[in-house]
Amino acid sequence: MESKIKDFMNKVKIRNGHEPEFLQAVLEVAETVIPYIITKDIYFGKNILLRMVEPERAITFRVPWVDDKGVVQVNRGYRIQMNSAIGPYKGGLRFHPTVNMSILKFLAFEQVFKNSLTTLPMGGGKGGADFDPKRKSDNEIMRFCQSFMSELYRHIGQNTDIPAGDIGVGGREIGFLYGVYKKLRNEFTGVLTGKGMSWGGSLIRPEATGYGTVYFAESMLNTNKDTVKGKTILVSGSGNVAQFATEKATQLGGKVVTMSDSSGYIFDPAGFDVDKLAFIMELKNIRRGRISEYIEKYPSAKFVKGQTPWSEKCDMALPCATQNELNEDDAKTLISNGCICVSEGANMPSTHGAIANFHKAKILFAPGKASNAGGVATSGLEMSQNSLRLNWTREEVDNKLKQIMADIHDSCIKYGKDENGYIDYVKGANIAGFVKVADAMLAQGVV
Ligand code: NDP
Repeated sequence: MESKIKDFMNKVKIRNGHEPEFLQAVLEVAETVIPYIITKDIYFGKNILLRMVEPERAITFRVPWVDDKGVVQVNRGYRIQMNSAIGPYKGGLRFHPTVNMSILKFLAFEQVFKNSLTTLPMGGGKGGADFDPKRKSDNEIMRFCQSFMSELYRHIGQNTDIPAGDIGVGGREIGFLYGVYKKLRNEFTGVLTGKGMSWGGSLIRPEATGYGTVYFAESMLNTNKDTVKGKTILVSGSGNVAQFATEKATQLGGKVVTMSDSSGYIFDPAGFDVDKLAFIMELKNIRRGRISEYIEKYPSAKFVKGQTPWSEKCDMALPCATQNELNEDDAKTLISNGCICVSEGANMPSTHGAIANFHKAKILFAPGKASNAGGVATSGLEMSQNSLRLNWTREEVDNKLKQIMADIHDSCIKYGKDENGYIDYVKGANIAGFVKVADAMLAQGVV
């Protein structure tokens, strides 16, 4: 088996050798899906996984814009249309200086499996730009978004490709992007998700990724007759996903003691209550400040510069910042400190070595493609509401989100439970996500 996985990875490396994040995401899938394919005649010999690692289309484009000083700046824009076997491409846009082909292809590849798991008819895609929104004025952000969309609009549409937010792309950016799309196409459609409530957005969409990550953790804990209540929890990040993971974990009776940004982490042993979280939301979303400013307001907390939070003692960890933010040593530290459950809010935050250690220690571990799928699932619900031309209530959307997360959890058990009862959620998510897409691809022929 190992040689088959190695042969496959060698083929992928020949074409993508300079894309480490993409290779990491493919390896994680190959290790669990290839042993499954070999046991199934319908997939065997069809090179189905080799087809899935090749984007259907990858677009790059120039994004020129003028900054507040009148200087012309140039960024690179991307859209990876990875797989449309089960529905139109769907996946976020990331604006961050580290954005490149490798990162977007890993995200698009993960998105194919994640979207399949949601039970909704959505293919996978991802896009963005190597643009840094930090310290830019609202006008600069608007001009950048306008230039970006003046090319992207040709490649997307409500039945073709429906982008959403990701790192660096929140409600403000989606608004600017939507405005240009509407002007160029002269149509009001659900072409983007994460829209404002007065112009086609869905209740619960901002909360969905973070809430879903915690709902998934609760389902995992329930398999051991345990619950989030009373748990001490480490959260990384302080953006959209981290904020709402913290909110839901706190509502369920957990105590979140850390949050972070790229400058370091804060540790508040008393936990973030409603007021403290409201302060963080205002700090990050309105004032666009740094997480270290928290200790000026709450001096009993500490700020640890340049570090991730994984050395603090906890029962649970929710990595919600970015890829590869939790390495093998961090995993060992978490396990020896008593951590029993890790639910990924971010995409691929745990390295390959970290995941191996979680599995070795037999703790509960959910990969992002399962545990953070609530965001795109609720984007799917936003698309449904746009097509129906109506809005569901907060309660209706939240109930649908809970049901989808429970269904994803069931799918992981179906394909991931071993003979001793341990649930390998990575294996479960990969195979469940694969089967639906692979079956559709087989039915549609070699295209
Ligand atoms: P935001 O931009 O709202 O927040 C990102 C957070 O992560 C910020 O606190 C940011 O800190 C921190 N961060 C970003 N890059 C780094 C880095 N290199 N090192 C340390 N910290 C970093 O993004 P989201 O909350 O939307 O996304 C977070 C993660 O969740 C990403 O992996 C994303 O792909 C994933 N995700 C998001 C979904 C969504 O609905 N938004 C859906 C599914 C997954 P700083 O401000 O200093 O940059």
